[in-house]
Amino acid sequence: MQYDYLVVGAGFAGSVCAERLSSAGNTVLLIDKRDHIGGNAYDCVDSNGILIHPYGPHIFHTNSQRIFEYLSKFTDWRFYEHRVLAELEGRRYPIPINKTTINTLYNLNLQDDEVEDFYKSRRIAVSEIRTSEDIVLNSVGHDLCEKFFRGYTRKQWGLDLSELSAGVAARIPTRTNDDDRYFTDSFQFMPSEGYSIMFEKMLAHKNIEIRLSTSYEYAKESESYRHTIFTGPIDLFFEYKFGPLPYRSLRFEHEHFPTTEFFQETGTVNFPNDFNYTRITEFKYLTGQQAEGTSIVREFPQSDGDPYYPIPRPDNEATFKKYQELAEQSRNVTFVGRLANYRYYNMDQVVANALSACEKLSGQKG
Ligand code: FAD
Ligand code: UDP
Repeated sequence: MQYDYLVVGAGFAGSVCAERLSSAGNTVLLIDKRDHIGGNAYDCVDSNGILIHPYGPHIFHTNSQRIFEYLSKFTDWRFYEHRVLAELEGRRYPIPINKTTINTLYNLNLQDDEVEDFYKSRRIAVSEIRTSEDIVLNSVGHDLCEKFFRGYTRKQWGLDLSELSAGVAARIPTRTNDDDRYFTDSFQFMPSEGYSIMFEKMLAHKNIEIRLSTSYEYAKESESYRHTIFTGPIDLFFEYKFGPLPYRSLRFEHEHFPTTEFFQETGTVNFPNDFNYTRITEFKYLTGQQAEGTSIVREFPQSDGDPYYPIPRPDNEATFKKYQELAEQSRNVTFVGRLANYRYYNMDQVVANALSACEKLSGQKG
């Protein structure tokens, strides 16, 4: 059969595209080389009955009512505000750094209106902010940078803060009050039955055929279609013509404790300076599941393995731009999502990216 669209990758990017294009009357063949839908946001029940995220913790947050309403067609939600503590020399402090962090770390009793002056007394003014080091030094100064950011970043990326674009550390704000939420977005919810069930509903359309454990390399030879939506790594699509784009990978170590109700006091604990892992997340906080035991995941960053993060720095951006130019000249293919656009996108940004790609395609059936 000739399909209107071949969609490569069944994560947020590919699934939203498949849903939009099929609803507009197109036939869609959706493939993924993995044996499940959902991409990195896939969740499942582990062998102990706990709902876990095999590819690391995924917390949905957005300021976009449009994105929230779009996804609400496929799921109900559970209100959840994520909180993270960072462990330094055995003591735990709120991260993002806030008034409580400063007061407990330095044994002070600052009030909200005094915290800004504290940061001002510590900050190292940087006239042109280019790197992640610039952004951290410019907002909180040397000591807090060393305690909370430099070690974590080195572990996570295998690079120094000064080697990464400002946008990486800029994801973490600095607070003057005692707000200890990781995100302050207006919509912070988890899909009430999990991400995978949300994806199943999104893809339950008669015009969508799903084929798992199927690679693009295989499908492009064996299938007939008019247009490709590609959500895998863009350098792979162009057969590494300009060299490979670096991605950061992770190894996930899952562990279950059968008789422990809660392993730690909050959803995630970060370890900026100790251990080979960056953080431990306990899923029951995220999902609200009640159970006698609990399941956690530790994240060990590594350079080899599945691509999880594009690495934002100028030389990689320059290589990506070459691929992007090629993408713009290529007919009958659209690149959507985190790996295809080499952007450090959150889930909501990927949904926005997919919706706008499909809006552009609408009208040009096939
Ligand atoms: P992916 O989910 O990576 O999907 C791409 C799919 O394409 C994959 O399933 C892959 O198997 C398939 N594919 C690739 N190449 C091929 C090929 N050649 N043939 C066939 N199939 C192929 N975002 C948030 O908003 N909140 C969070 O809390 C959050 N936490 C995260 C934690 C971790 C550890 C990671 C790694 C990411 C996190 N994210 C989070 C980001 C989020 O995972 C992404 O924004 C989103 O899942 C990207 O969707 P995507 O469809 O672009 O890519
Ligand atoms: N970061 C840090 N210390 C922390 C938390 C974050 O240095 O305790 C830096 C680090 O470089 C990290 C980046 O901020 O990669 C973004 O953090 P985020 O929690 O958004 O990472 P993600 O959840 O995407 O892995």
